[in-house]
Amino acid sequence: MDNYDKASIPSLTDCLNAADETRELLINRGCYTEIPALLERFYQADGVYLVSDENTREAAGKLVGAILQEAGVPIRGELCFPANPRLHADYSSIIAIKEGVSVLPNPDATVPVAIGGGTVNDLVKRAAAELKRTYLCIPTASSVDGYTAYGAAILYDGYKQTMSCPAPLSLAAEPEVLAKAPPYLSSSGFGDLTSKIIAGCDWIVSDTVEPLGAPGANRIDTRIWNMTQPGLMDYLERSISAAQGNSDAVIALFEALAITGFSMQAFKGSRPVSGCEHLFSHVWEMEDLSLDGIPVTHGHKVTIGTLAATACYEIFFADPSGPPSPPRDYVRPGPSQRMNAVSSAFKGNRSHDQVVKTALEKYTDDKTVARIREAVTDNYRELRDRVLARLLPYEKLREMLGKALCPLKPESIGLARNQAIATARRAQMMRNKYCLLDLLWDMGVLETTLSRLEDSKTYLC
Ligand SMILES: [Zn+2]
Repeated sequence: MDNYDKASIPSLTDCLNAADETRELLINRGCYTEIPALLERFYQADGVYLVSDENTREAAGKLVGAILQEAGVPIRGELCFPANPRLHADYSSIIAIKEGVSVLPNPDATVPVAIGGGTVNDLVKRAAAELKRTYLCIPTASSVDGYTAYGAAILYDGYKQTMSCPAPLSLAAEPEVLAKAPPYLSSSGFGDLTSKIIAGCDWIVSDTVEPLGAPGANRIDTRIWNMTQPGLMDYLERSISAAQGNSDAVIALFEALAITGFSMQAFKGSRPVSGCEHLFSHVWEMEDLSLDGIPVTHGHKVTIGTLAATACYEIFFADPSGPPSPPRDYVRPGPSQRMNAVSSAFKGNRSHDQVVKTALEKYTDDKTVARIREAVTDNYRELRDRVLARLLPYEKLREMLGKALCPLKPESIGLARNQAIATARRAQMMRNKYCLLDLLWDMGVLETTLSRLEDSKTYLC
């Protein structure tokens, strides 16, 4: 199932057609001139409401405004957020967008247009959903995998959460604008793309344990798998110089990130594109991780999560003859012990109750754990071969991330090495979606894996 030839890789258009929310993606030079036609084709529009920040207004908003005016599309209103401090995906900004549209003479016929990076897009995505409108997205950087995904990561009630909302109906991405984006944004997008390697490995693990009754596990869906996995290495190689402003590289990167969103739309879940590396980043997002007062981007957090997850995979599968055994004195915690541990790990956190609930849902009973241990031990070589065929070796991953100007050490995103490693414990408690961290926990080797990771002179150094 994991073997494929080039013929099995669907084209960008095939992936777009498999998505059920997004109808059109333009990514060609001069595509802004086609925005009036997009508005006419897909939206019952009597005007637009433009949302940007000072940087993205300069990079794209002014040109888009001029093209719309020239074409006679009424610009009913505009909201431009300040560039400094860097825009947060805060719910108060969603309220500002909604109020801006609601006071217009004909709000139901006005199309919100997001002109910006992941944050502007997430704000408009959610605001449009609350306004019961579809929106148009004009991305200004290949910075994140969320443009074409449904859902938006919003700071609400004090903590970051994924709020449901449909993906954009259409997008127009101008390569020249993407190429001029600040390097840290393109490197964030590249880091986010490397996470799809772990997503693939986690899906193989999940595919193995699903028939055994493991909670939150999914079988591999070959049609969706083919959208994201077979072409991934080629996309990574072609997009490696995106942060240097190489135009072909940013196009490749944007396409690859857009496909990840389309595969989520087709799968109706994040399984194809997000694994345990995103759980590390979710913990750091809850903590509002910043460096020198500047928030760390989603993609840079995911980069360190991807390095940590790769290290854990290499440690678990290090011995070709069989999986690591739990320590002699290992005793699997019972449900109440487990709930106490989860509760204290998230004590004082706004999402405490939700995480405790999820941890209870994903607590595996003893019989299922015994079946998982037996099956993983019996089928170890096959599982190891399948995972290692997908996993990019740590040293190669690190080299690739370095070329793409991504952070390589936890310190580069404001974390001590031991803090980053310890995050694995809390990451494993979140989300009922079977991944490597769950396998380590069920096999009784999470702690020994983390100790080996901590003792190593290679990983996260
Ligand atoms: Zn992501």
